[in-house]
Amino acid sequence: MPLSESFKERLYPLLPELQNHFGSPFHIYDEAGIKKTGNDLNKAFSGVRNFREYYAVKALPNPAILKIMTEVGFGFDCSSITELILSRQIGAGPEDLMFTSNNTSPEEFAVAAAEGGCILNLDDINLIDKVPHMPETICFRYNPGSERKGNHIIGTPLEAKYGVAKDQIVDAYAKAHSRGAKRFGLHTMLASNELDYTYMVATAEMLLEIAEQIQNELSITFDFINIGGGLGIPYRPDEEPLNLEAMGNKIAARFREFERKNGYMPDLSMESGRYITGPHGALVVSAINRKDIYRTYIGVDACMSALMRPALYGAYHHIEVLGKTGSDALETVDVVGSLCENNDKFAIQRELPTIEDGDLLIIHDTGAHGHSMGFNYNGKLRPQELILRENGSVELIRRAETNDDYFSTLDFEPKVLRAPATE
Ligand SMILES: *Cc1c(COP(=O)(O)O)cnc(C)c1O
Repeated sequence: MPLSESFKERLYPLLPELQNHFGSPFHIYDEAGIKKTGNDLNKAFSGVRNFREYYAVKALPNPAILKIMTEVGFGFDCSSITELILSRQIGAGPEDLMFTSNNTSPEEFAVAAAEGGCILNLDDINLIDKVPHMPETICFRYNPGSERKGNHIIGTPLEAKYGVAKDQIVDAYAKAHSRGAKRFGLHTMLASNELDYTYMVATAEMLLEIAEQIQNELSITFDFINIGGGLGIPYRPDEEPLNLEAMGNKIAARFREFERKNGYMPDLSMESGRYITGPHGALVVSAINRKDIYRTYIGVDACMSALMRPALYGAYHHIEVLGKTGSDALETVDVVGSLCENNDKFAIQRELPTIEDGDLLIIHDTGAHGHSMGFNYNGKLRPQELILRENGSVELIRRAETNDDYFSTLDFEPKVLRAPATE
């Protein structure tokens, strides 16, 4: 199921008034739903000694949302300077921050180390020498190469730019240890939008095996194992949700097995983004034009600057028309934005109730990798973000971009390198 029935029941009756009050388009997020999913995730892993989710900030980098993560006990997974700044601004301390970067720059290392630092997750063995001060706790991202299959969003591990290779991983920990690291974590991120929970169980198993191997060779122990993000959500109505409970139970069982063999249990962490907020967001747009040529096009007042996933991955986002259902007259249409790219479509050849100008369309599951992935190509601006609070009020949590925002980078001090003087 895409958007939950509970969110729909609370959201849909409000939509005409939201349209009057805030204007369309907007993304709107469900505080109650996000909290519930957060608590469900914590509960699913109650079988391990200590579980913590570090929310993948890139999925929905809005301070109002990040505060909810704090309320359910989550930390933050950051992979850029601005994500670190944003998380620190809402009060995240060194233990609440995981920095999982790729192709890391000196500036990124400097910001990661500032303000008491964070849990550094290194992406390559060569980066050990580039870390300005080796922190006490260090983690490496592991890339298992041919041993695991990825999926189409993230690619196969052999072709992925991420992580430390299998034949480097022991050396990486040995080197970090000799540089002064005292506590160790092991991380991987192999899947994206994976609905089969057994994939995550296999990932936990793989990491525990590697940890055991490193531990035996180097006489170090592991503080934590991080199985990454990538839990899937059902974007299509006929997809089954991931079995969270089974995943939690199976992974906890593997951790207890590790404890029996090794005399201790590492903490378990995870860095899901999509699973936490994806189904608790919707992009609400108005139909503004109808065009009947070789196909019928429904033009709406947002474009791919608000939601890139369909154009980028061919992703399916379920769409409903407010006040109209499957028992109304149906027609097959493309739902399109105004950008000068033919892939600027929210739906392609989708059967929907007949849409007229002014109808509100609800595009489901935009709570992760939605607004945050937007861009300004073609001078298109990103829409506002709203939140439906638990008490039923609706709050603006990011204004829409303006033309002034777009032109702001053209306001700068002149700077020229003169052409070399010629004879
Ligand atoms: C994008 C990303 C995530 C979150 O992925 P989801 O599919 O949203 O769970 C987690 N960790 C890393 C390193 C990422 O790059």
